[in-house]
Amino acid sequence: MDDLLSKEITYLKGVGPKRAELLNKELEIHTYEDLLYHFPFRYEDRSKIHKIREISSASINYQIKAEVVKIEPKGYARKKWLNVLVRDETGSVELKWFKNISWFSQQLSLGGTYIFFGRPTFSKYGLSISHPEIIQEKDQQETRSNFNPVYYTTDKLRNARLDSKGISKLIQTLLAEVAGNFKEALPKWLISEYNLQSINQALRDIHFPEGEQEMKKAEVRLKFEELLYVQLYLMKIKRLRLSKHKGILLPKTQIVHDFYKKVLPFDLTNAQKRVIKEIFSDLNYGNQMNRLLQGDVGSGKTLVAFVSMLIAISNGYQTCIMAPTEVLAEQHFQGLAKFARALNIQIEILTGSTTKKKRTEIHQQLVDGEIDIMVGTHALIEEIVQFKNLGLAVIDEQHRFGVAQRAKLWNKTSDNFFPHVLVMTATPIPRTLAMTLYGDLDVSVIDEMPKGRKEIKTALWDESKRLRLFGFISEQIKIGRQAYIIYPLVEESEKLDYKNVMEGYESIQRAFPKIPIGIIHGKMKPQDKDYEMNQFKNKKTKILVATTVIEVGIDVPNATTIVIEDAEKFGLSQLHQLRGRVGRGEHQSYCILMSKSEISKNARQRLMTMVKTNDGFVIAEKDLELRGPGDIGGTQQSGILDFKIANISKDEKILKAARKASIKIIQEDPKLETKDNKNLKEKLKKMYSAKAQWARVS
Ligand code: ADP
Ligand code: MG
Repeated sequence: MDDLLSKEITYLKGVGPKRAELLNKELEIHTYEDLLYHFPFRYEDRSKIHKIREISSASINYQIKAEVVKIEPKGYARKKWLNVLVRDETGSVELKWFKNISWFSQQLSLGGTYIFFGRPTFSKYGLSISHPEIIQEKDQQETRSNFNPVYYTTDKLRNARLDSKGISKLIQTLLAEVAGNFKEALPKWLISEYNLQSINQALRDIHFPEGEQEMKKAEVRLKFEELLYVQLYLMKIKRLRLSKHKGILLPKTQIVHDFYKKVLPFDLTNAQKRVIKEIFSDLNYGNQMNRLLQGDVGSGKTLVAFVSMLIAISNGYQTCIMAPTEVLAEQHFQGLAKFARALNIQIEILTGSTTKKKRTEIHQQLVDGEIDIMVGTHALIEEIVQFKNLGLAVIDEQHRFGVAQRAKLWNKTSDNFFPHVLVMTATPIPRTLAMTLYGDLDVSVIDEMPKGRKEIKTALWDESKRLRLFGFISEQIKIGRQAYIIYPLVEESEKLDYKNVMEGYESIQRAFPKIPIGIIHGKMKPQDKDYEMNQFKNKKTKILVATTVIEVGIDVPNATTIVIEDAEKFGLSQLHQLRGRVGRGEHQSYCILMSKSEISKNARQRLMTMVKTNDGFVIAEKDLELRGPGDIGGTQQSGILDFKIANISKDEKILKAARKASIKIIQEDPKLETKDNKNLKEKLKKMYSAKAQWARVS
């Protein structure tokens, strides 16, 4: 039967070479199976005829039966349209056609009654429906099913008479040809335990359900299956990693105790202590650690990373920490160097701007084992950088690094072992997404802020409050604090970007003529950025005007105000990151979002979310909801989120069930060798052979 599914689409009755080529090109439909998995994106319920008075929502298609009372061509020259007024006993509605006007006007006659089907628009001119479908009363019987599929299609396909209806017909033909013969991949017990439809029924009902209930059941079955494969796949990777790569044991902790006793200036939070314990137990379990450390901005992840590094160093191993930008790497270096010196630990930094001489020196010292902590940027993953015995690699802000880059860290030591890996992210990933993306990683969460932190107060202002804004900043500076003013990055144009921030800088200078102001933007050399950053850190400048280059990790506790200009242009997680630049010390901090007064609904929702909450996880969930999963934290590169039907921002319940089921399957039959799991294994193999590339990574 599988042969049948992989049959080329050209052989299906009603297709032929020309349409096949179009289907290939336009929808990537090559085989029977591809067509079958081209699911409807919505359904239309034609079972009900609404009264005009009942039309109330702009998001539903309505079917009405009404009499034509006026047919009126409108407009002039190129801007013509057809206006048709129709009525039933409850009211009237205007129908509009902007294309094929003469053809549509011929379909209708004054005084005739027709069935119209379409989506309403509510405007100040009243209720109307644009381009409704016209169903002649005599044809009404033709639509037998009450729940009709609507398929995505394209103009080119439409020209080949493959509109939604045409595609529907092809699928009908296909189902008739192969009906009831699909191989069931899910084991019997699973189907009955989770009360799932059989694959045969699901594939029929997803296209041609009797009603909503059948459609929903088919949807659940297909989503479940899709999510199950991902979970099984991730667990397989994890198992492979655990069995292949024996982890180095790191039982000694002498330096950690010294650090606690003599150096650490504050108490760890309970969350930090818990996570350190989790990491320590990973490091002594016998397997290679691959742990994702999540924690909101300012929750103290770096410190946890440092303690983890001290464990490795106590056992005679080297460590490294990789950051996405030079500014950040530098900051880690300065922060950690203080501690390291007190503990007599060798620490060095390697970035793009390290001099050639110094670089060569560092390369040698690494191989000789003279450096304990190597801080750096991408420069760390260059081929030439080799360690004597790298025991732990920490990756900060991991979403900034491509998957392939992370993989390179694995081959950094001469011996045949892989270092333990700790990845940290301050962009909290919603649980559903984490389960899918990092199903093979262990996850630790720091869910507590260091004591004494005050909630950042956030406000949404528009241009009318500009003077008040300047007054506010002045006051903060008067009492000794500092402020950031952030301009958006216009990605398409670096020039515009630069112009934007330079104009901002000048206007801020005009507003605060007596106050020293710094500036940082993407076009500056790393040294100049560092210089400006240090000027600000050392309170030489009081206001720092910047683009999003300061987004991640920058730590200046005395800066208490962040103003974000054109805030509506930023994504939610980015806004949250930026806001995390303040609220890092004991002083009350403020985030002021400046935006136009008229912004899109989506933008307003983003900004109001910021005003309402400081909780990174709530924000991440909202972000996922508003944006959809494809774009979260640069995850689009992973390929793992290309679902046909599942939607991880909406299908959390099904995802959890699928995860639970996959855990059970793998526990009972790790290699999927039993008869029960035979089809499952085959299917998995087929599905993921193409994705083997990223399988190796963390
Ligand atoms: P993250 O990387 O999670 O955003 P950092 O590690 O940069 O946060 O920590 C933010 C600030 O909080 C730093 O100045 C750090 O020294 C401080 N910090 C970390 N842990 C604690 C703690 N337990 N108590 C007080 N301050 C802490
Ligand atoms: Mg950090």
